[in-house]
Amino acid sequence: MQNWSKNIDFNDRQYFQPETLTELQELVRTHPKIRARGSAHSFNEIANTSSFSINLLKMPKVIEINSASKSVKVSAGLTYGELAPELHKQGWALNNLASLPHISIAGSVSTGTHGSGMKNQNLANQVLSLDIVTAEGELRHIDRANPAFNALVVGLGLGGIVYQYELKIEPTFEVRQVIYPGIPLDVLQRSFDQIMGSAYSVSYFTDWSSAKVGNLWCKFRDSEVIPESIGGSGKADKKFHPIPSVDPVACTEQLGVPGHWHDRLSHFKLEFTPSVGEEIQTEFFVDRKDAAAAIEAVSQLGSEITPLLWITELRTFAADNLWLSGAFERDCLAIHFTWKKLDAIYPVIEKVEEALRPFNYRPHWGKVFTADATYLKSVYPKMGEFQALVQALDPTSKFENSFTRRVLA
Ligand SMILES: Cc1cc2nc3c(=O)[nH]c(=O)nc-3n(C[C@H](O)[C@H](O)[C@H](O)COP(=O)(O)OP(=O)(O)OC[C@H]3O[C@@H](n4cnc5c(N)ncnc54)[C@H](O)[C@@H]3O)c2cc1C
Repeated sequence: MQNWSKNIDFNDRQYFQPETLTELQELVRTHPKIRARGSAHSFNEIANTSSFSINLLKMPKVIEINSASKSVKVSAGLTYGELAPELHKQGWALNNLASLPHISIAGSVSTGTHGSGMKNQNLANQVLSLDIVTAEGELRHIDRANPAFNALVVGLGLGGIVYQYELKIEPTFEVRQVIYPGIPLDVLQRSFDQIMGSAYSVSYFTDWSSAKVGNLWCKFRDSEVIPESIGGSGKADKKFHPIPSVDPVACTEQLGVPGHWHDRLSHFKLEFTPSVGEEIQTEFFVDRKDAAAAIEAVSQLGSEITPLLWITELRTFAADNLWLSGAFERDCLAIHFTWKKLDAIYPVIEKVEEALRPFNYRPHWGKVFTADATYLKSVYPKMGEFQALVQALDPTSKFENSFTRRVLA
């Protein structure tokens, strides 16, 4: 078994797919080491284990909407692609999605997965409560009033196996997607907040080449007015893929055609393989107030990055209080790289991390990075407290793996 990118071979001693809560609890209780795996879309070893692994795909698929409290109870192993159309059918929506709907809710929440939008927090902030199977095999309900909540939502799989979430929902809404091609990078730097704030969710795609331009993807909510031009560029009259040379057939509808939130907020349609497949991703989060300088620092490495890159995506997301969230107590610029699958990328990734160190970058937990535990502790101020909590909840380190030992050493 491999992850989505096929850059990680899973080493599980045994792979379990329980079908009931009792079976799940018994598996956790009776195994000395066990690690959850979602839809295996992470690009690093976070979901790998040399011991026992567990996946919730065969568990009952619960989607229970509570209109009064504007919440939905969902099985943790569901994908957003399974949840979103059902929510919409019943008149509801999540406030945001990542670039693809194929990922599991638990895997996405546990790694701090995000979409875009100056006012939108990452997807973990949709969580109102979680039901988690502890190291002893007991089911524990943790809601926002629980002091452990902010620690365990983005939990890297260390708090236990999440069985069920309660997520915040809102009435369903429509989105229109419009692309503004050819916005110069220096225009973006000069007017970063204005340009990235031009729609509900905004992404800027660039390849850092000497042309120093990029395409702005704007997702407008029902009531937002669509401007004729942004940053000096007018609306596209043809469809785009994030990688301009690739056929946009896999992409959600563009050209301002209105559609349901779940058919527009992700870049890729559920029924297609997202992105190019032959790729490795990295992503680094810096404080949004440093956006122009951080973009400049990466731009300086353009001649080394461009030949190895499919595309970079710049997004924003809003600050939160979740201890291991990339946006813990700071609004973020997310600098994402979709790399070609070549060995030559790794030294360049290290250079990018070096260039972003002055901005105290935080890496995406589900993507490739080289930062060590000492550095990570310096940029995640609650890391020590997180470790102490995990140690108290799981004294025999049942849920750890080589990745968590590396990042929390
Ligand atoms: C093509 C592509 C596009 C992507 N786009 C985005 C994007 O737009 N934004 C973004 O932020 N990221 C993006 N990602 C990264 C992706 O969102 C993360 O890697 C996410 O973790 C994937 O979810 P998963 O279910 O595959 O998790 P996995 O890789 O299977 O697992 C990730 C972590 O979650 C834990 N976990 C899984 N299930 C449970 C459970 N039930 N209980 C406790 N812990 C659990 C695992 O132990 C592991 O630590 C993208 C990835 C790909 C391949």
